[in-house]
Amino acid sequence: MGQVSTDDLLAWVRAFARLVAEHRDALTELDAAIGDADHGANMHRGTTAALAAVDGAVPASPGALAKKVGTTLVSTVGGASGPLYGTFFLRLGTALGDAATAAPADVAAALRAGVEGVVTRGRAEAGDKTMVDALAPAVAACEEALAAGRTWEEALAAAADAAAAGRDATTPLVARKGRASYLGERSAGHQDPGATSAALLLAAAAETLGG
Ligand code: ADP
Ligand code: MG
Ligand code: MG
Repeated sequence: MGQVSTDDLLAWVRAFARLVAEHRDALTELDAAIGDADHGANMHRGTTAALAAVDGAVPASPGALAKKVGTTLVSTVGGASGPLYGTFFLRLGTALGDAATAAPADVAAALRAGVEGVVTRGRAEAGDKTMVDALAPAVAACEEALAAGRTWEEALAAAADAAAAGRDATTPLVARKGRASYLGERSAGHQDPGATSAALLLAAAAETLGG
C-alpha cells in the first residue's frame, strides 16, 4: 500500500476547501434551522485560510502541514467549529510526527487521535448530534477495513460512507451539545451542520489520500 505524502495531505485540504465552498450555502441553511446560520461562512473562511497557509510554502511533512492547518483554523474561525476542527488537525499532525511520509495504518491512527482530540475538547458523546457522530464512525470504519485486510482505498471509502451515514443519522436526534442544544426537542428533525461538514472532510480524504 502506498505511503501518504505531504502532497497528498495538501490535496486533501484543497479538496475539503473546494467541497466546503460548493456546500457553503447548504451548511449555512442547516445552521439557520438549529443554530445561528454561520456554519457555511465559518468553514469557508477557515478552509480558505488553511489552504492559503499551506499552499504557497508547503510544510516539510504531512504532520507539519496538518499542524499548520489546525492553527490556522483555530485562529480564523470564531465559532465552535474552529477550535474543534483545529484540534482535529493539530492532534492529527502531532500523531503523524515529522516523518516525510506516513503508512496507511499510521494515518488511521492519526485520524483516531484527531477524533479523540475533538471529543476531549468538546465533550460530545455519540448521539449528541454533533460532528462527532460523523467523525467517530468514519475512523472506526477505516480501522475495521484495514484490520480486515482491505486496501487503503477501500478503507478510505468505508470511512467516507460511514461519515455520510453518521451525518444522516443526526437528523432525528435531539442536540445535547452546542447551540442546537438550546432548542431542546425542537432540534430533532434537522441534520446537524457540523456532521455535514465532517462528512465532506471524509469525502475529501477518500478522494485524495488513497494515492
Ligand atoms: P457555532 O455553533 O459557534 O456558530 P458553527 O456553526 O461553525 O459554530 O458549528 C456548529 C457545529 O459545531 C454543530 O453543528 C456541531 O456539529 C459542532 N459542535 C458544536 N458544539 C460541539 C461540541 N461540544 N462537540 C462537538 N461538536 C460540536
Ligand atoms: Mg453556527
Ligand atoms: Mg456562530
